[in-house]
Amino acid sequence: MTAQLIDGNALSKQLRGDVAKRAAALKARGITPGLAVVLVGDNPASQVYVRNKVKACEDSGLHSVLEKYEASMTEAQLLARIEALNNDPSIHGILVQLPLPAHIDAHKVIESISPAKDVDGFHVASAGALMVGQPGFWPCTPYGCMKMLESIGYELKGKHAVVIGRSNIVGKPMALMLLQQNATVTICHSATRDLKAMTLQADVIVAAVGKRNVLTADMVQPGAVVIDVGMNRNDEGKLCGDVDFEGVKQVAGWITPVPGGVGPMTITMLLVNTLEAAERAAG
Ligand code: NAP
Repeated sequence: MTAQLIDGNALSKQLRGDVAKRAAALKARGITPGLAVVLVGDNPASQVYVRNKVKACEDSGLHSVLEKYEASMTEAQLLARIEALNNDPSIHGILVQLPLPAHIDAHKVIESISPAKDVDGFHVASAGALMVGQPGFWPCTPYGCMKMLESIGYELKGKHAVVIGRSNIVGKPMALMLLQQNATVTICHSATRDLKAMTLQADVIVAAVGKRNVLTADMVQPGAVVIDVGMNRNDEGKLCGDVDFEGVKQVAGWITPVPGGVGPMTITMLLVNTLEAAERAAG
């Protein structure tokens, strides 16, 4: 069996087209959805991420502001900037690129963002809203994974989903979203005793670990849906996921590639959340 591909680039293009249309409708009412991206320090990977986010905004007709600061910026200065952005009516979404320099408390900074502008979905209020099933902003990466499942018309009700990884930004919210769709969810992590025994029972596997080949063909039951969130480098320095793609695609029913899978969806859902924030602000 060869798995069908869930193409994150193609789905992103479609969803970004919808974002552009909704942004144009808001603009006709005199409101341009605006995202502020805040980068502190000169982490090379972060610089690439923020550039991609700003470009994606521009391409979809959203206004974006990139605020870049020296790594020496103090926590108080950053908190003051966030406060100003919270009060800026032209900004509907605020994203602080992580990681922050060690002298800044990232948790405190995220908590200083107004929940109404928390388009990354990392604020405790957003996490709580997801937990209890209330409206709020969903973290972009797991939200993108849910859109990928939706795009293939996958019915999660009654299925067994196994999430590998329990981070606050991917694994845990992913598990909650799957649960909300009535899947039976198992969360695995570094202390899980027999990962293979878990994944072999899964109809859906989401790998969000950050290690190559965490999921191999012998760990997947035929026809399972495999979503690969991981971003790693192989021996040739090329981007790869957590899943042994070549092996697993022989067994799985559906699979997401890396690159071209979850990565573009993450940025797309940031645009969706920003637009949503602007629409909510506009009433
Ligand atoms: P993280 O905070 O490092 O979490 C990794 C999780 O994997 C932890 O819960 C850890 O367990 C678990 N883990 C580690 N080794 C394991 C093993 N051998 N078996 C089972 N579980 C294991 O990472 P993250 O932020 O969630 O990101 C995960 C991956 O997704 C990374 O590669 C990251 O770059 C990628 N990512 C991609 C996107 C995208 O847009 N495509 C977005 C975000 C993240 P413990 O909790 O027990 O330590």
